[in-house]
Amino acid sequence: MKMTILGTGTSCGVPEVGCTGPVCTSTDPHDKRLRCSGILDVNKARILIDCGPDFREQMIRLNDFKAIDAVLITHEHYDHVGGIDDLRPWCRFRTIPIYADHRTCEHLKQRMPYCFGENLYPGVPRITLTELQPDIPFMVSNLQGDKVAIYPLRIMHGQMPILGFRIGRMAWITDMLTMPEANYDKLKNLDVLVMNALHIKEHPTHQNLAQALENARRIGAKETYFIHMSHKMGLHAEVDKALPDHIHLAYDGLTLSI
Ligand SMILES: [Zn+2]
Ligand SMILES: [Zn+2]
Repeated sequence: MKMTILGTGTSCGVPEVGCTGPVCTSTDPHDKRLRCSGILDVNKARILIDCGPDFREQMIRLNDFKAIDAVLITHEHYDHVGGIDDLRPWCRFRTIPIYADHRTCEHLKQRMPYCFGENLYPGVPRITLTELQPDIPFMVSNLQGDKVAIYPLRIMHGQMPILGFRIGRMAWITDMLTMPEANYDKLKNLDVLVMNALHIKEHPTHQNLAQALENARRIGAKETYFIHMSHKMGLHAEVDKALPDHIHLAYDGLTLSI
């Protein structure tokens, strides 16, 4: 499995518009963070996790145009779904199946009513919605029938239930504050954990760095990469250097073989 982390920033991205602080004015490319998303090539299928407002720019940077066989959506916040209309160029390969929980599917139907229903305008993205439930594994497949099994996990974004995903020995968890105790068992034996860590101070709906470090330690993946960072995390080079071995700040464009 090959994974590229397309974006590692919190909802407003880094730099924050109008900010003149040290991270937002840093010239280190690792301090430039688009909104969170990842793309996986696994078993000849291509899976996108979240499709935020930077999706178009991220795919131009990736420069590898081929079919997207599934889009997994963690939750309906704009930083995770704002790029769905920009899936249009990929609809020349196939109708794109989007997988999300009931609440997120309902939000998408309300937000993008022009994509669903009868007699669609020619040019709209050809997408379908499939509802997921936590702890009910499902399969996605490419047009040739190669399949990938995915396990959706319940994650708590403050008080709001959202989804995380385990795919083989990789898991993607974003916008987490807490998760049910039983998930720790379901996340055993990971080679790679991608998980959110917002910044140093505590936050009502996202893990801060200390909480993310504690959860990374409990989950015990071989390698853990933090995403969904704000400019208040500090400079990438300094913070990353101070982390334990096997725990890293991710950066936009990071590619991993799993
Ligand atoms: Zn978010
Ligand atoms: Zn969110």
